[in-house]
Amino acid sequence: MKYQRILLKLSGEALMGEQQYGISGDRLKEYALDIKEVVEAGAQVGIVIGGGNIFRGVQGASQGMDRVQGDHMGMLATMINGLALQSALEEVGVYTRLQSAIKMDQIAEPFIRRRAVRHLEKGRVVIFGGGTGNPYFTTDTAATLRAVEIDADVILKGTRVDGIYTADPEKDSTATKFDTLSFDEVYKRGLNVMDLTAFTLSRENNLPIVVFDMNTRGNLAKVVKGENIGTLVEK
Ligand code: UDP
Repeated sequence: MKYQRILLKLSGEALMGEQQYGISGDRLKEYALDIKEVVEAGAQVGIVIGGGNIFRGVQGASQGMDRVQGDHMGMLATMINGLALQSALEEVGVYTRLQSAIKMDQIAEPFIRRRAVRHLEKGRVVIFGGGTGNPYFTTDTAATLRAVEIDADVILKGTRVDGIYTADPEKDSTATKFDTLSFDEVYKRGLNVMDLTAFTLSRENNLPIVVFDMNTRGNLAKVVKGENIGTLVEK
């Protein structure tokens, strides 16, 4: 196994599956099975989940809502997704804990770094909900922050494209995929890996990022083993 401790970032949008909104039960189940596979192989797994399938702060702002208020709604959306993922994981027999960046003691543990690490050591999957707990940030930044805090070996960004391309492959058919990239190259080429706040945090802490297609069953296990899947960004 190439990576012992991983931080998996799942976007909220990916949870929609074929739907236009909300949570697809089938997609959740597939993710749960993929995660179970790597846990059984002995990997320690932390997960940050987005909320874009339910609400984004910028979406509220575009409708005239206060941005901070909208971001609070977005952060709560990540908790809804976190609860859904937790129950899908439990259904397939994976032990989990949900920790929240925002206090909601009846629903989730508060985020406590040492406790999170202890859960990981015991083989429990820790889902980090509520983003960073602050408005104006994204869950990519939350994922990077948690990855650095728990001393993860890598951040695995599960998306619907299979890596980083020279251009958007859904729009430009001549786009080609990179197998590896350095942080500097990503920056110089202006490639869209994560938002710049998240990317900078990763770069400054020398935390490798793998962007890969999470919607193909078995890919997560392959990435964790170190197979050449997706695009690896490192120093
Ligand atoms: N959000 C926030 N602070 C954070 C993380 C998220 O305010 O630290 C809010 C923000 O409004 C964001 C929403 O939660 O739009 C959902 O997160 P994100 O857009 O990152 O989800 P994804 O794109 O991964 O589905």
